[in-house]
Amino acid sequence: MQDALLDWYATNGRDLPWRHTRDPYAILVSEVMLQQTQVERVIPRWLAWLERWPTAAALAAASPGDVIRAWQGLGYNRRALNLHRAARAIADHGWPDDLTELPGVGAYTAAAVQSFAHGEAVLPVDTNVRRIQERTGRAFGPECGQALMDLGATVCLARVPRCGVCPLAGGCPSRGRRYEPLRKQSRFEGSFRQRRAALLRLVAEEPAPLAALDREAVDALVRDGLVEFDGDVVRLPA
Ligand code: SF4
Repeated sequence: MQDALLDWYATNGRDLPWRHTRDPYAILVSEVMLQQTQVERVIPRWLAWLERWPTAAALAAASPGDVIRAWQGLGYNRRALNLHRAARAIADHGWPDDLTELPGVGAYTAAAVQSFAHGEAVLPVDTNVRRIQERTGRAFGPECGQALMDLGATVCLARVPRCGVCPLAGGCPSRGRRYEPLRKQSRFEGSFRQRRAALLRLVAEEPAPLAALDREAVDALVRDGLVEFDGDVVRLPA
């Protein structure tokens, strides 16, 4: 199964820009962006980010406001603040042995950096990888990380897997099955998340008087450290 997977990956693997580097900072940025944003949207933003802030030290020297502004459109803006805090921790103290000590870095992201940057023998298990492990009932070695991710993203899809073109079909007990959607994504339109995003976009353009703003959304953004008060004016963190 593993050989079939790696053969498939050699000709069908996605050519993603962060796969051409072993720089842990660049890989960390890609993994944080990919946590909740689609690959196609991440690619141009990752390239622009690395051009602007090519090292953890460069990002650490930026203001939180600039970082939040540069993150606009990727969604889930707290990731930007955490990435910034992580860069500051790295710039001040170097990379910790346990990467989950960095803000916003969980077990998966830590394993991805260990594997893709340092070549350590760990298999980063994201939703795609876990799905294939469960469906095939197989354990895959650490060298299979990117191949499993690509198979999960393009062939072993969540609801209707494309078993007809799958390199693992010969030994997969789940071949031909269909699956119910796990959960419906909550609607963005009309949600509080949308109100927060709209307010942050507004304040990112220029500071605005509190009286003119959606107070509930302001309070939520203040709690997350994404905006702050300057007297009666709301602005990005200085
Ligand atoms: S045969 Fe189907 S269910 Fe099994 S790993 Fe391949 S795509 Fe997924």
